[in-house]
Amino acid sequence: MLRVGILGGGQLGRMLLQAAANYPVETYVMENDEDCPAAHLCHHFVQGDIRSFEDVYAFGKGLDALTIEIESVNEEALAKLEAEGVRVYPKPSALRTIKNKITQKQFYTQHSIPTAEYVVTQNRAAISDHLDMLPAVHKIGAGGYDGKGVQMIRTKDEIQKGFDAPGVLEKLVAIDKEIAQIIAVGQKGETAIYPPVDMVFDARLNLLDYQISPAELPQSLLWKVEAISLRVVKELKSPGIFAVEVFVTKTGDVYVNETAPRVHNSGHHTIEANYSSQFDMLWRVILGYPLGNTDAILPGAIVNLVGAENCEGEAHYEGLDEVLQMDNVFVHIYGKKDTKAGRKMGHVTIISREKQDLVHKAHKIKNTLKVLSKEAAAIAAAAVKAEPVTEMRDRSIGS
Ligand code: ADP
Repeated sequence: MLRVGILGGGQLGRMLLQAAANYPVETYVMENDEDCPAAHLCHHFVQGDIRSFEDVYAFGKGLDALTIEIESVNEEALAKLEAEGVRVYPKPSALRTIKNKITQKQFYTQHSIPTAEYVVTQNRAAISDHLDMLPAVHKIGAGGYDGKGVQMIRTKDEIQKGFDAPGVLEKLVAIDKEIAQIIAVGQKGETAIYPPVDMVFDARLNLLDYQISPAELPQSLLWKVEAISLRVVKELKSPGIFAVEVFVTKTGDVYVNETAPRVHNSGHHTIEANYSSQFDMLWRVILGYPLGNTDAILPGAIVNLVGAENCEGEAHYEGLDEVLQMDNVFVHIYGKKDTKAGRKMGHVTIISREKQDLVHKAHKIKNTLKVLSKEAAAIAAAAVKAEPVTEMRDRSIGS
């Protein structure tokens, strides 16, 4: 049986392990937190820092293959392990290109892949040398994630909001839709393309709001997105699974925003909505099996469950019973003990033939299912209990 290690133990690792249960593979996970979402589903858990050369090297030495569920893994250690015969998905060279937004943008330019116009900035002060780029988006080169390394700079007065570290200053694109295109690349370079996903954002949190697949785009634009995304993965020259995020404008331009060299949060619906999920697919790639069927069984939508504002502590899932009674709705809770505002705690997938039904249920779920802290839930329950008494008293006063 092949011994395969996953670097990072979050929800992506957890779902990857759920799919691993169908295959002859012995699984290893490394992560700092021994209570992380993936820790209890693998055969072997190793506590360690994925950013540390020593920890990653020690973990990978002796394994047959490795994969990642987050980009911040130490890629020098992966490169050494690869040189010593461990197969790594994605290749460390592809990870190195993608890991830093500066090298990632330069990669697109070098390969004539359309991307928003940009300049490289070494620090915050350098933004002032490029006032002609405003309004723009400043992106930190290394270490940004979930919108935390991205800052909008509309005017000169907002330059102080930029990052005082190497990064890119990108012209603001008039985005009509943000699309994610997931593509699997097999060991011989063969590819399998998933139906594209329309990602709808919560501007306030800068986190994904909900997503629908297949995205509704004119056929010519779908082909454009597909062709450009294919070019990205071909040029990365690595087996694995990739999510290419693109901006589509009203005038029909397509710009690559960024690429994730791993399973992606825009592909969770593939567990129920597609014949071979992105997680199943990655095992096929790693284990050298034929790629799976990416076709949609039915259109799908994903609603992210994030921790409610002003709630911190042990998680309580308000409205879960109601959502579990809905047809063609699948709840995934990631097993994180504590919630906090904006933390990704789970997701819900909806499948349906009708797009209207998907949108309707997505909104209903967003309004019904809330991740509160146990404490906040208890306070809310006590307030509800007290309400009828107040109403009665009001009525008696009025009569
Ligand atoms: P992260 O890697 O943290 O997710 P992104 O580069 O994807 O950061 O940016 C987060 C969001 O900011 C994007 O999904 C998009 O909505 C917005 N954004 C990023 N770059 C641009 C741009 N050049 N023009 C307009 N909006 C942008």
